[in-house]
Amino acid sequence: MYFYYGVMGSSKTATALMKKFNFEEHGRKVILLKPYIDVRSGKTIVKSRIGLACEAIVIDKDASIIDSLRQDKIYDFDTIIVDEAQFFNKHQIDELRQLTNEGIMVMCYGLKTDYMCNLFEGSKRLLEVADSIRELQSPCQCGRKAIINARYKDGEIIYKGEQIEIGGNDKYKPMCYQCWVKGKNKA
Ligand SMILES: [Zn+2]
Repeated sequence: MYFYYGVMGSSKTATALMKKFNFEEHGRKVILLKPYIDVRSGKTIVKSRIGLACEAIVIDKDASIIDSLRQDKIYDFDTIIVDEAQFFNKHQIDELRQLTNEGIMVMCYGLKTDYMCNLFEGSKRLLEVADSIRELQSPCQCGRKAIINARYKDGEIIYKGEQIEIGGNDKYKPMCYQCWVKGKNKA
């Protein structure tokens, strides 16, 4: 089980879709999963900023992944790629972990932390149970490595609100810790 994490704008979705393409070229049977919560690109299409797109199976909030696949009669796969894996709950990540015992390769892509630098439930579980964890890096505008997805409203960084709020380039900016704290002291 692999977990590739990175801030917004670190090409996670593009990397996931390229990986799917490469695996399929080598004869692997790949399914792409995503949690229901991310409705940004329509219910069943996963789309990257550079224009790659692919149909995905959407797993409902808190639904069993294994039961959902059975219900849809999806049995013929040996590889699962997950986009936005941070939004799965602990049980759903454990189900993916369980599938690796049956010979399924699972590769999860997602954010590590939210806009307040706290772990998401899915990411926390992935950090605990994945065999291999890698970071997809992205720079802050100052040049340091970005580790926080700063949330913006009306051009200002905000430090209060719900953990999950779907949004794109206008709402979130990858940022290093120093720049994020500087904004916090001003706020
Ligand atoms: Zn910075």
